[in-house]
Amino acid sequence: MAIATINPATGQTIKVFEPLKDSEIASKLDLAGQTFEQYRKTSFSERSQWLEKAAIILQQEKADFAKIMTLEMGKTYKAAIAEVEKCALVCNYYAEHAPTFLADVAIKTDASHSFVRHDPMGVILAVMPWNFPFWQVFRFAAPTLMAGNVGLLKHASNVPQCALAIADIIHRAGFPEGAFQTLLIGAAKVADIMADDRVKAATLTGSEPAGASLASVAGKQIKKTVLELGGSDPFIVLESADLETAVATATSARMLNNGQSCIAAKRFIIAEAIAPKFEKLLLDKFLALKVGDPMQPDTDLGPLATPDLLQDLHQQVQTAVKSGGKVLTGGHPLADRPGNFYPPTIITDIPLDSAIAQEEFFGPVALLFRVPDINAAIQLANATPFGLGASAWTNNDQERDRLITEIAAGAVFINSMVKSDPRLPFGGIKRSGYGRELSIQGIHEFVNLKTVWVQ
Ligand code: NDP
Repeated sequence: MAIATINPATGQTIKVFEPLKDSEIASKLDLAGQTFEQYRKTSFSERSQWLEKAAIILQQEKADFAKIMTLEMGKTYKAAIAEVEKCALVCNYYAEHAPTFLADVAIKTDASHSFVRHDPMGVILAVMPWNFPFWQVFRFAAPTLMAGNVGLLKHASNVPQCALAIADIIHRAGFPEGAFQTLLIGAAKVADIMADDRVKAATLTGSEPAGASLASVAGKQIKKTVLELGGSDPFIVLESADLETAVATATSARMLNNGQSCIAAKRFIIAEAIAPKFEKLLLDKFLALKVGDPMQPDTDLGPLATPDLLQDLHQQVQTAVKSGGKVLTGGHPLADRPGNFYPPTIITDIPLDSAIAQEEFFGPVALLFRVPDINAAIQLANATPFGLGASAWTNNDQERDRLITEIAAGAVFINSMVKSDPRLPFGGIKRSGYGRELSIQGIHEFVNLKTVWVQ
């Protein structure tokens, strides 16, 4: 895959980038390794100041950064602005809290003094996807830099300008050169970098094959990884739920980021008694969405990020129909315009035991299932290889408690859509990956918990 900016709304190639030569990669690895030896000695207060400055740059230049995101991967401009603001938030969050999260923890033993210290690990590699091209990088960079590690970013090949802009922000904020570098490289170069002695650990957000490939190289080298992979999140609505709010939230939760989010609601599991009404209300909402130029402020749904994603999504829709699914709206790429546009689509009646019912649909396609009761709802929610998030709607306390306890996922949100928040850990189970980002748990992923005993 070429490293290039290709506008998903028009198909036009804007700029092609030369990937780094092997000698350039080697120099960047050298610089990262050397920088770590100095950077690890900087104080929390220096790091906090730099991170706060990064937040200021993000806020001041958010319009420019948002335009790059929309241009490269097609999210709506208003969503891109919100993403930059969230990046500023995570910078400020870790600037404030990291010193407490990483403070020595005294533990009473027979020693005169014993405690746990949080040492940085060294150079950490981040392999990142295009769907939240700023947010996913900043949620890695903020805790990693605060912990005294240095970062290397291998961003997705379709967002090179985002990748360069991020490294530039971090550098302009005052972090030493080499504390955070972007590597413009294809995926094929990742294995060698992971195996390099200077790289101590890695995080990857993306598809299962990419995660498995990186983790297997890391495993051979005895290096830690954090993986944040796909999801096929359920959105359960039971009879006692506030239906109007559930439908409005269902629409936002499915259309988030033009449908391309790991935590987007993908399988809508609705109690039989309210299913006809839910379907009708959801259809009305989907039909009211404005599809078009992502730069326009009234656009609800922009294009998919690449032609391949459009093709894959349409193939899944066709398979769903062949398996018995009925299309209520949408179901074909929008052929009346250039770009990778797929309309809001609803599919019902997919047999529960069909293979396609378990797949992740990475686009604006909602799969609707009807269930007789909460037992069937929970069973279906868990009938997927993934386990990232789940949104469940009920006003019954007993049902709420069962949903929290019995749904197998990294997160359960009751009467709300699944979202990430710097204050809460984020990550999945099963084939959605392992490890956590954000909050205190996120910053602890890439530190050495050093046990200290003083006799
Ligand atoms: P990928 O997993 O292919 O890309 C994500 C990142 O991993 C990119 O930086 C990519 O680089 C890199 N990568 C790809 N293959 C390897 C590899 N073998 N070793 C190391 N790094 C690798 O995602 P796609 O963009 O192809 O999207 C495909 C599917 O992945 C989506 O339909 C969706 O299901 C899932 N996905 C999930 C995301 C999430 O948020 N959890 C985000 C994006 C995708 P390069 O761009 O150079 O190939």
